[in-house]
Formats: sequence, C-alpha cells, structure tokens
Amino acid sequence: MKRRTFLTAGAAALAGSVLPAHSARAGKARGRVVVVGGGFGGATAAKYVKLLAPEVEVTLVEQNREYHTCPFSNLVLGGELPLSGVRHGYGALSSRYGVRVVHSAAAQVGEGKVVLADGSEVAFDRALVSPGIDFHFDKMPGYSAALAEKIPHAWKAGAQTALLRRQLEAMPDGGTAVILPPANPFRCPPGPYERAGMFAHYFKKAKPRAKVLILDAKEKFSKQPLFEEGWALHYGEMIEWRSAEAGGKAEALDAKTMTVETEFGEEKADVINYIPPQRAGQIAHDSGLTEGDWCPVNTITFESTLRPGVHVIGDSCVAAKMPKSGFSANSQGKAAAAAIVRALSGEEPIAPSFANTCYSFVTPSHGISVAAVYRSDGKAIQSVEGAGGVSPKEAGADFRRREADYARGWYRAITADMFY
Ligand SMILES: Cc1cc2nc3c(=O)[nH]c(=O)nc-3n(C[C@H](O)[C@H](O)[C@H](O)COP(=O)(O)OP(=O)(O)OC[C@H]3O[C@@H](n4cnc5c(N)ncnc54)[C@H](O)[C@@H]3O)c2cc1C
Repeated sequence: MKRRTFLTAGAAALAGSVLPAHSARAGKARGRVVVVGGGFGGATAAKYVKLLAPEVEVTLVEQNREYHTCPFSNLVLGGELPLSGVRHGYGALSSRYGVRVVHSAAAQVGEGKVVLADGSEVAFDRALVSPGIDFHFDKMPGYSAALAEKIPHAWKAGAQTALLRRQLEAMPDGGTAVILPPANPFRCPPGPYERAGMFAHYFKKAKPRAKVLILDAKEKFSKQPLFEEGWALHYGEMIEWRSAEAGGKAEALDAKTMTVETEFGEEKADVINYIPPQRAGQIAHDSGLTEGDWCPVNTITFESTLRPGVHVIGDSCVAAKMPKSGFSANSQGKAAAAAIVRALSGEEPIAPSFANTCYSFVTPSHGISVAAVYRSDGKAIQSVEGAGGVSPKEAGADFRRREADYARGWYRAITADMFY
C-alpha cells in the first residue's frame, strides 16, 4: 500500500465511527435505555445515547467499579506500563453525561427489564448488550476455569494481567514462556503476537537467555509479515512461531509438570499463556441472544435478529468482516446509539460507516497497524474497497516510531471518547 493512502486511511479511522450528521437530530427521543457492560462498546453507547438525546434515561449496568483495557495491557506484561496505566473509572459518565451507573452483575435481559444478580430489575424501552467474551474452558484436555489461576489467559485485563506479569518476573533466565493463541474468530487477532514481542522486550533486558515459543492453532495470523520482520530485527531467535501444521497445535496441557502436549511431542514451559477459544459473554447466552457461540444482529442497527428491542455490539456480535476489537466496538457503539435514538423517535435507521485501526507494538518504539473502513450492505458488514491497508514492510525506524506514537495517541483518544 502506498504511504499516502495509508496515512489518509489512518486519519479517517482515527476520527472514529462515522455517524451521518443528521443522525444527531433526535430531539424528540424519549424513553429508557439500559446498557449492559461498560467496556469499549457499552461505555461508548451509553455516553452517545446521552449526547444524541439528553432526555433519554440511560442506565449502564457494569459489574466492576473499574475497567482495565485490554489494549495496552501487553505493555503492562512487557514492564512498560503499570496496571494503573490501563485503568479507567465511570465517574465522568455519570457526573458529566448524566448516565446512571449501576455496579452490579446483570443476570438476564428479560422482556422490558434487565434482571440484576440481586433480583432487582431495571426497566427499559430499548436495551443494548456489550458483555465482551467468555471462554470455552473445557476444549483443552488438562485445562479448566480454576487452572486460569496457574495458567493465566490474561485475555480479560486486570487481575489476570497482573498474575501473568508476576509469572514472567519470576521466570528464570534461560526459561521458556509458551503462548497458545486460539483459532479464529477471537478477540483481537494481532493480540497474541504483540504479546510475544512484549515478552521478548522484557526478556531482552532482564533474562537474555529466555525464549518465547508460540504454539499456534492456526496456519497464519494478522500482520504476520510485519511481526516476523520486526521480531527478527529486534529479538533475533528469541521468538519462535510454530503453525498448527508444523506442530503448533496443542492437544493437552499438564499444569503440574508445566508441559504442553502437541502432535509432535512435548514442550516443557516455565510460563504458559493459554488463550482459550471464545464465545459471546455469558449473559448473551442466558438471554436468548446467541446462535451457537455469537449473537446475530441487524448490521445497520445492531438489533438482535432473535430478540427485537435488544441490541448487541462489540465482541459478542457477528459483525464480520469487522474484527473483534475495541475500536470496532467503539465504532459500533456510536452506530447503535444513533439507531436506538432514532427508533425511540419513531424514525428510520440510517446506514452508518464504521472504522477500525488495530495498532500493535513490536517494541515500545516500533509500531505497526492495519486500518479499514466498513459499510453494511444490509445483510453483512463489508470492507470499503480502497480504504485502509497495512503498514509497509521495510519501513525505517522513524516510520515505526511514528506509528508507535500514533498508537499512544489512539489510546488516549479512544479512552477519552469512552470514559471522559
Ligand atoms: C491483549 C489484548 C490486546 C488488545 N488490544 C487491542 C487494541 O490495541 N486495539 C483494539 O481496538 N482492541 C484491542 N483488543 C480487543 C478489545 O479489548 C476488545 O475487542 C474490546 O474490549 C471489546 O469490547 P466489548 O465492549 O465487546 O467488551 P469489553 O470491553 O470486554 O467490555 C465488556 C464489559 O461488560 C462487563 N460485563 C460482562 N458481563 C456482564 C454482566 N452480566 N453484568 C454486568 N457487566 C458485565 C464486563 O465487566 C466488561 O466491563 C485487545 C484485546 C486483548 C485481549
């Protein structure tokens, strides 16, 4: 891709989701909206419903008092950021935007009401659900939900991130950290490979004889040529990637002996980071919003095709070709907010455009990215031809440093858009 096209796409993507200007005209909207899940999708949607239609009562039901972003959590693992660097609160959503924030787990989205864990209910005219992912803990022999305390996934940020970081710190020099990425689809396609780079970045400084071994359930991965080029440049032989066919597919784990069994033999590890296969957040399953693992939606309004009046966005919904990313969830949050406000005003929905850029760090000063713009054709979300692309190969150190700076700018902008 030519650099100029790339920069143009990046700028469009940074502007966030592209709402048609007239979608903001919704002064007549009245009603009650309940949002379940205050992450990338839900926090954005709650705020934007209030921005578009201040008279609408918005309640955000979020089980945690603080939110840790997965974006930039790999930098925490690499020792570049404290965990507090990815922590955000909900204060401004209530004090500045008038969202009523209820810290409780939601048990179910019922007919016209969300039932909370303590049995109380919050009534709605429209609900929006953005609960992120839950895991299939039972697909790998030898693994279980309880074993996540010994073999962390760190695929939800917070305590799991801190645990994995402590394990890396305790690992001996000369030890091996094994990462086991899942098959598609999963949250953040480039995430495991950015993580490998951040492990190596830390090892290079603290344990130069250590190794990162990626045993993959796939044959290829996102931004692969750029990651491989960067790994070779900065880390030499420290990172090894094995595709499923080349013996990467793990068949069992043994947490006692810290061994990964593959078709080709056993790999002994000091740290194992197994990222289990994923599915929509549990509440989506408990509320009749899923078909198989994920939630089918109308790709213009994000209204569930199974439950009228309930919208699902973010990782839980089927929005391919958009990847399951924070940027996608944020972009969908704005589109769904506009659709909800228009529905409450009795107006027809307007087809939005969506944007996504996934930045990844190879080192803290070597960034790479993939950007795209999307539109729904009414049935599915399609990439817009000619918009977007990936960072060029063989770019110089200055270019890579600028992309790392853009990544930091993106993080500041998107978290401000969600929480502040
Ligand atoms: C290591 C890693 C790196 C990543 N890096 C990037 C990146 O650089 N860029 C990017 O765009 N994306 C990145 N992602 C992906 C991004 O984190 C997700 O795609 C994004 O968080 C999805 O948003 P969401 O709203 O669907 O879910 P989440 O952000 O997970 O939010 C879900 C929220 O719902 C709450 N919740 C769930 N169930 C309930 C319930 N029953 N009651 C109440 N609350 C509930 C949870 O507590 C949570 O706060 C990364 C992911 C990982 C794992």
